[in-house]
Amino acid sequence: MTNTRDDRYDYDLIVLGGGSGGLAVAFRAAQHGKRVVMLEPDELGGTCVNVGCVPKKAMWLAADLAGRIGLARAMGFDVPLRPSLSWKELVVHRQGYISNIHASYRKRLDESGVVRVPRRGRLVDAHTVECSDGVRVSGAHVVLATGAHPQRPDIPGAELGLVSDDFFNLCHAPAEVAIVGGGYIAVELGGLLQALGSRVTLLVRGSRLLDRFDGELAAQLAENLVQQGVRIEFNYRLRELQRDGDGKRVRVLGHDGPLDSVFDDVFFAIGRRGNSSDIGLEDVGVEVGDRGEVVVDAWQATAVPSVHAVGDIAGKVGLTPVAIAAARHLADRLFGGKPDAKMDYDNVPSVVFTHPPLGQVGLGEDEARERYGDVRVYRSSFRPMLQALADGTQRSLFKLVCAGPEERVVGVHLLGEAADEILQGFAVAVKMGATKAQFDATVAIHPTSSEEIVLMR
Ligand code: FAD
Ligand code: NDP
Repeated sequence: MTNTRDDRYDYDLIVLGGGSGGLAVAFRAAQHGKRVVMLEPDELGGTCVNVGCVPKKAMWLAADLAGRIGLARAMGFDVPLRPSLSWKELVVHRQGYISNIHASYRKRLDESGVVRVPRRGRLVDAHTVECSDGVRVSGAHVVLATGAHPQRPDIPGAELGLVSDDFFNLCHAPAEVAIVGGGYIAVELGGLLQALGSRVTLLVRGSRLLDRFDGELAAQLAENLVQQGVRIEFNYRLRELQRDGDGKRVRVLGHDGPLDSVFDDVFFAIGRRGNSSDIGLEDVGVEVGDRGEVVVDAWQATAVPSVHAVGDIAGKVGLTPVAIAAARHLADRLFGGKPDAKMDYDNVPSVVFTHPPLGQVGLGEDEARERYGDVRVYRSSFRPMLQALADGTQRSLFKLVCAGPEERVVGVHLLGEAADEILQGFAVAVKMGATKAQFDATVAIHPTSSEEIVLMR
């Protein structure tokens, strides 16, 4: 513990939001012996636990099993061609898992002495927050960790579309689904809905998927999705949604003419906007950007010295581990005697949960060329063993981006079976500055997909 207690304020720290970032900063500040109050009007855990990573991964795991049942049949197991799934039972398992997370957070909050207020908060000055019941609390520091919400496009009929939050209320796989967008959520929901029984159409305004990831891997992913039955309309310019004749289904109209079908559900997956409105930011002088994000510097600091922001609201990298890491560094800097602690936003690994998953850490080819000039790319495209045994068509593609005469590995890009699990270890190697020669000197584990990464020539 550093700073001594400041009795001018009720608390050392007020946290707005009990999601990934808010919980992390509250726990870490409490560990440093600080008096912490956390406001969260909704379920603990925020987006990730309730309508994001966790329920999404549960559905992805179910979709993965569905794919494996097909492979098992192809390998000779006596399983039906289309085994039925009780979606309701799956949801019971999923929500039970989430309830356990809520219980564990409640217990940890109690044990750590963090005061939890189940209310929305609003800044009234640089050190004071008003709860939605009118009670005011003061704090030496305030951390904004209010997250973000899904966007809808500004088109006629937008209210007929659903967003990712609504996906988790589904009681069955809708027969025909359109998903607008070509980013993380569009490809994840598209892939898993198709595997769980929907016929999915992706409506992508650009000419490729996942433009923050490697283009070759994204093209291979698109091919894999099409082989799984997903229809992809690139360069699609959405104009309007209309109720179809029966009033239940939705017709999609583009600027270049209607699609030839109507859909049971249309989802928008077109990005998220920071939850920064109506929380008093303008009144106290905290700057807000175009996407509703709170403008912060490298230290998560706003222009108001006592107000800080972490996680999605800070608009940098919208991932749970990033929110948590930034929050812990901030608490260490403010309360833990580590004045230099700050989040390093370089080499953040990320995985898109498609089938197979796609992940990357570090730089893409173009970014690496811009930064280093001298770049060499190694690639391996192959059919993983289970696909080959079962006469499957899905291909994996792994790439290494190496820079400079010493060929430092500055980017690892993986699309393939278990890429989600493989990437973490290679992210450590990239962070440590490993070279291609060190990858080559590492003995392979055979027979696996991951051995391809140390066998590329
Ligand atoms: P949140 O978790 O959104 O928490 C914000 C909290 O603030 C909420 O609980 C909200 O109720 C509360 N709040 C809002 N306003 C106020 C207020 N005025 N006062 C008090 N409280 C308030 N990331 C990954 O790393 N891996 C994944 O696989 C992944 N999958 C995802 C899937 C989906 C469908 C989505 C939508 C996101 C996914 N993400 C994933 C992103 C991840 O969920 C977010 O980056 C993460 O939850 C951000 O944490 P946060 O603390 O910034 O915000
Ligand atoms: P993304 O930013 O990943 O993708 C948004 C997509 O929507 C892009 O293809 C974009 O196209 C398109 N788009 C934007 N505006 C429009 C519009 N008006 N009409 C049509 N298309 C449009 O956002 P997501 O909503 O998919 O996900 C939000 C964030 O949540 C992610 O960025 C990520 O941080 C996080 N997340 C992380 C996951 C993980 O870690 N596995 C999973 C899910 C979410 P264009 O490229 O042309 O702008």
